[in-house]
Amino acid sequence: MSDDCVLLIDDGRLAALTLAAIQPTGTRFVVIEPNGTHPAQSRRSAMVQRHLDQLDLVTHELLPPPPAQITGPAYRLLDAYTLVLAAGAARTHGVSRILCPFHVGHDVEAIGEVVRQIDALTDLIRDCGSNDETGPSAGPPEGPSAGPAAGDVLIDVPLVDLTEADVIKLADDCDVPLDAFWPCEHGEPVPCGQCASCRTWREAFQSFGLPWPWPRQAALHAQPS
Ligand SMILES: [Zn+2]
Repeated sequence: MSDDCVLLIDDGRLAALTLAAIQPTGTRFVVIEPNGTHPAQSRRSAMVQRHLDQLDLVTHELLPPPPAQITGPAYRLLDAYTLVLAAGAARTHGVSRILCPFHVGHDVEAIGEVVRQIDALTDLIRDCGSNDETGPSAGPPEGPSAGPAAGDVLIDVPLVDLTEADVIKLADDCDVPLDAFWPCEHGEPVPCGQCASCRTWREAFQSFGLPWPWPRQAALHAQPS
């Protein structure tokens, strides 16, 4: 497949759709959707479906849920699991670039940690890919594969140094609908506006003088309980 096709990891967040929006015109997308038992999973999934309508889609795949032993708070391991599966899907579809919507803000150490982990994971994926072939000394690969050779998968994290506010600014600049994501840790009909994740995003919207896209529910949850 040509270079104008990329694999996008879309977890229903604003960064994923924004990442798609900044790709060159004509880019086509293989979309991989992480799966799991998180309370907000169905809401995030609904947002992914909304994103798909805006993408020039090659295919959309829901990843298998992670094994029970890596669910829970081990997010880094869960992210690694997602990336390994994404690399396998990229090879299957002959795509050489994976767009990953991670963003950790301006903390240089946090950015460096993500980059180091991505580098290590890329090496691991390449080594595993080499082992999948007939062997490193077997000469050029043969057979029906039209995609990149095993190990040629690049994991790209172009938004890694953005804060939530930066993502909103970029999304707004790209005319991405600002309610096309799920900011909440819960799975209620609309974001609660009060959980840690909602509060972070609310502050980010406020920093630009933009209204919270789900005001009615926010007001509802602001009532003393
Ligand atoms: Zn919330």
